[in-house]
Amino acid sequence: MIGHEAAQAWLRRALQTDRLAHAYLITGPRAVGKRTFALQIAQALNCNAVSVGDRPDHTCQQCRMIQRGIHPDVRVVRRAPERRMISMRPPPIAGPPRDFVDNVQFIQADAQLRPVMGRRKVYLIVYAEELAEDAANRLLKTLEEPPPFVLFLLTAIERGGVLPTVASRCQELRLRPAGRAQLAEALVAGGSEPERAVQLAALAGGRQGWALAAAREPALFEQQQTYARQLVEALSGTRLDRLVRARALSERWVAHPEAVRETLRVWMSWWRDVMLVQLGLSGRVVHLEAGEQATLRGAAGQVSRQAARQAAAAIQQTLADLDTNVNARLALDLLLLRLPAIV
Ligand SMILES: [Zn+2]
Repeated sequence: MIGHEAAQAWLRRALQTDRLAHAYLITGPRAVGKRTFALQIAQALNCNAVSVGDRPDHTCQQCRMIQRGIHPDVRVVRRAPERRMISMRPPPIAGPPRDFVDNVQFIQADAQLRPVMGRRKVYLIVYAEELAEDAANRLLKTLEEPPPFVLFLLTAIERGGVLPTVASRCQELRLRPAGRAQLAEALVAGGSEPERAVQLAALAGGRQGWALAAAREPALFEQQQTYARQLVEALSGTRLDRLVRARALSERWVAHPEAVRETLRVWMSWWRDVMLVQLGLSGRVVHLEAGEQATLRGAAGQVSRQAARQAAAAIQQTLADLDTNVNARLALDLLLLRLPAIV
């Protein structure tokens, strides 16, 4: 784990004193490492290392099974991809067994059974924002007074995004993003080329989970650059060209909403970079490739500060609108037509 010193210190103390609440809500920005930290807690509670100070050792059978997601006592709970929320009952379709739990009925029943091979049963509810209200209400009693061998770990971006009835039964552990230099250092230690590590750490914007994944998977890095390039092409394109791009994005939204969200997040970071260049803070931009830097300088010279700020705000507003079920096609058309032109 990179950064998160406070969270690490908390975990060490909790293990040493053997004092844990029965439910925690781990919050922090997207890909900051919430799930990794939750699994670390599950490992520490079940680790076979003799000395508490050595837990989790990441090497014993318990730790390895938890890492691989096959430990019978550590259950990942998340929304089934074909549904909108984590619901009360399992989805009606019968399919191959899943490597996660997607309904509260199962948790309620399963939480009454003692651990099979570990000391503690852990239910890790990822994206706790996606708990349906009726399901959450049924979970409240178990969440409030689980059997002594059960621990609930929920993750969410913001405490405010989780139903208050659920959030109020959890202690919050907030993870803060790692600094850019710290993240780059950790990537180099993990085997990345120094230059790539600096680029990834900048692009990650504190999302260490993303940086680590992108260090292993070059396609993730290239994808971000593709999104940024598509924006630049749109900005220098005709009105018709912009509408064609908006149409393609709205079609993508239907099947791959997360890809569209990521596209818009990259676009926002690109406009933020333009503003940084305008303010003489080029050292803080996240789009670091030589070609990208030249384009940023060009845009910074052609567009007013106010227009750059409005572009970033329009993208942010579109991101928010898309999540409230507006007409995606219309929202994206409007956005693409509103962005300033560069040559
Ligand atoms: Zn272990």
